[in-house]
Amino acid sequence: MVWNRSIIPRHAFITWIYSHKRLPAKVRRSKYRHQDTVCSLCHSEGEDDQHILFTCPYAQEVWRGLKDWWNLPILQINHSFFESMINIKGPKAKKSMTYAIHTARIYYLWRARNMAVFQNKRTPSHQTIMAIKEQVRNRILFLNQGMHKFQSYADNLLL
Ligand SMILES: [Zn+2]
Repeated sequence: MVWNRSIIPRHAFITWIYSHKRLPAKVRRSKYRHQDTVCSLCHSEGEDDQHILFTCPYAQEVWRGLKDWWNLPILQINHSFFESMINIKGPKAKKSMTYAIHTARIYYLWRARNMAVFQNKRTPSHQTIMAIKEQVRNRILFLNQGMHKFQSYADNLLL
């Protein structure tokens, strides 16, 4: 899934790190040294990869924004994310787009987290949503130039 052509390489890379449970979230790192483990985006819960990418209120705001745009299948948090991705039904082009959106989402949520941790800057969720849409749009429209595989989705993408 991670190496699907619809996915931007740097988004694939972060998703791949996540798939190996190697994102250096605070809870994971705190096994090694003493430090605060509270999420820098919501300041209320422990920061681990599941929290940042799925259960944090910030992640859920981003999720809602993307769901309004593209009908994303509901992910079951208690199942493996990658298992849910592989089990998505439907045409190949649609699946590719869903992969692209999810990997971009992981990349930009991790980025928003890093901006908060290292630069003390809060990225508004609408800005994160816009960045994800723009990147996915550009990638898919670029790939569509040759084969027109994504033609039936192009109108939706431009919304
Ligand atoms: Zn949080």
